[in-house]
Amino acid sequence: MTQISLTFPDGNKRDYAKGVTAAEVAQSIAPSLAKAAISACVDGRHWDLQWPIEADSQIAIYTMKDDAQALELIRHDFAHVMARAVQKLWPEVKVTIGPVVENGWYYDFDREEPFTPEDLGAIEKEMRAIIAERDPVKTEVWDRSRAIAHYVAKNEPFKVELIEAIPGDEPLRMYWHGHWQDLCRGPHLQHTGQLPADAFKLMSVAGAYWRGDHTKKQLQRIYGVGFKNRDDLKAHLTMLEEAAKRDHRKLGREMELFHMQEEAPGMVFWHPNGWTVYSALQDYMRRRLDRAGYKEIKTPQVVDRVLWERSGHWEAYRENMFIVEVDEEGAKEKRINALKPMNCPCHVQVYNQGLKSYRDLPLRLAEFGSCHRYESSGSMHGLMRVRGFVQDDAHIFCTEDQIEAECAGFIDLLSSVYADLGFTKFDIKLSTRPEVRVGSDEIWDKAEAALESAVRKVRNDYVIDPGEGAFYGPKLDFKLTDAIGREWQCGTFQADFNLPVRLGAEYVGEDGAKHRPVMLHRAILGSFERFLGILIENYAGKLPFWLAPRQVVVASIVSDADDYVHEVVAALRDAGLRAEADTRNEKINYKVREHSVGKVPVILAVGMKEVAERTVSIRRLGETRTETAGLAEAVAALAGDATPPDGLARK
Ligand SMILES: [Zn+2]
Ligand SMILES: [Zn+2]
Repeated sequence: MTQISLTFPDGNKRDYAKGVTAAEVAQSIAPSLAKAAISACVDGRHWDLQWPIEADSQIAIYTMKDDAQALELIRHDFAHVMARAVQKLWPEVKVTIGPVVENGWYYDFDREEPFTPEDLGAIEKEMRAIIAERDPVKTEVWDRSRAIAHYVAKNEPFKVELIEAIPGDEPLRMYWHGHWQDLCRGPHLQHTGQLPADAFKLMSVAGAYWRGDHTKKQLQRIYGVGFKNRDDLKAHLTMLEEAAKRDHRKLGREMELFHMQEEAPGMVFWHPNGWTVYSALQDYMRRRLDRAGYKEIKTPQVVDRVLWERSGHWEAYRENMFIVEVDEEGAKEKRINALKPMNCPCHVQVYNQGLKSYRDLPLRLAEFGSCHRYESSGSMHGLMRVRGFVQDDAHIFCTEDQIEAECAGFIDLLSSVYADLGFTKFDIKLSTRPEVRVGSDEIWDKAEAALESAVRKVRNDYVIDPGEGAFYGPKLDFKLTDAIGREWQCGTFQADFNLPVRLGAEYVGEDGAKHRPVMLHRAILGSFERFLGILIENYAGKLPFWLAPRQVVVASIVSDADDYVHEVVAALRDAGLRAEADTRNEKINYKVREHSVGKVPVILAVGMKEVAERTVSIRRLGETRTETAGLAEAVAALAGDATPPDGLARK
């Protein structure tokens, strides 16, 4: 019998019979490991314990301690167990596919009757029964004709269609969870008993077209979430509850920030309160960019397709662009324009005006750039995913030698902005050269090293994603963590060796010859719309005082105090505060409740006692106690609190 040599993570090598399974390898190390094993890693590939190993390899055995692999297997096995439970309860239901997704899985079923919430409860119960049976997972490789005949006989037309779509030479793997069988690439756990029976929940049912094609049959998709243990599941469900309470669409209504409507899908109608927050954030960003040496510009919304053809967007990005056709005077044909989906080509047009020398570099051109991109209606979500948005965009034109310093300066600015806005934790990912790319290896070496060295100056815990850079250059992605632990990718920094060539950007070097500048695309917030959605949810609507749309409401307790209310409002406005009067003939408790729902941070209640003493009674959002202060003193203190975090006075 032929022997193969397996190398373990500690460097030890052992010989095994060719075709040994990973389960047998685990058993040869220790019976306890064989029992705890969930899968293996063979030459970097996630490997089922039952698969044979045919050649010399590196091997590691995974257990539930290996988080990423454990969660992937748990969720994948849950998908199979759920499908088995559904067919046990309703044998006529046809099965299709069931992949792992973030935090869980889904499975699409063909069933005439809709699944009800009661049905989900029954499926969960059946799943627990299957887990309790500790049914072994089995796998076999079948040839195609056998697999097709099998599914034709079982009347599973979707599976037949799936198999027919798989290229001819690929082996078909079958898996069994107990007697229940599914077509699947694997890997899977050893038996259903390895699933945590108390760490999953079926969440919802939604319609989904077969193969995502709306001309095909509509199926029912059941979503589930699954974790390693009950505590992790509970933490996830608590986070979801908290997220629902903070939903920016709900808070947007309660705080009268914005609305959206059918006639402009994915576009935002900002109301006075929302636009106030938007403008305060934009003013803040403008000051930060100005201090960091950026020059602000503004470029057109509607640009002829000729420029998009030159930039390459017409070919690569056409289906996401809004097209504007115009009958020009005297022209035989319509002129075809596009609403800009990004600002970069227009910024090169500004750069290209007039001869540039090395002394002009780095040139940092910033624009609060209004962009439009066609997103499918299903992918849109409140402010988080829209069709019309404004980027805090900028492009830095520089020499290859300047990339590192520009990158370091950018990371400094980004960290400071995030901290000012309440986000102290963020992750950095560096994506390096993909196989298909433009630019020489020398310039890629230089740019990747520049980005990495800039990152290292601020931290040593960053992730490298090899091969995931854009075809035109390496990039950094910045993902921040919000108050309830959710991650949002906001900032980006991308080197580009391509667009300056395509659009003919040049500078005259010290040597008197013409050179190509490098173009750095960068954004800190990403888009104002989405970032405001994140801010609203992060703060559950209780925005920092300097960003609050209405900072102070002065409410009368009795109508005889109305004149004084207006005097107080005027004093607050003179001090630069956003203040409003509420002299409606309502009880003060009613007014306080209403403004609390609207998340007004400070309410000044004014009655005859305050009029007589020229004081105000201060009530802060979320607090029940009030404090009394003299008018001038209160105004000065509130004006101090309203100073933006960059320390500069408001306009
Ligand atoms: Zn599977
Ligand atoms: Zn750009």
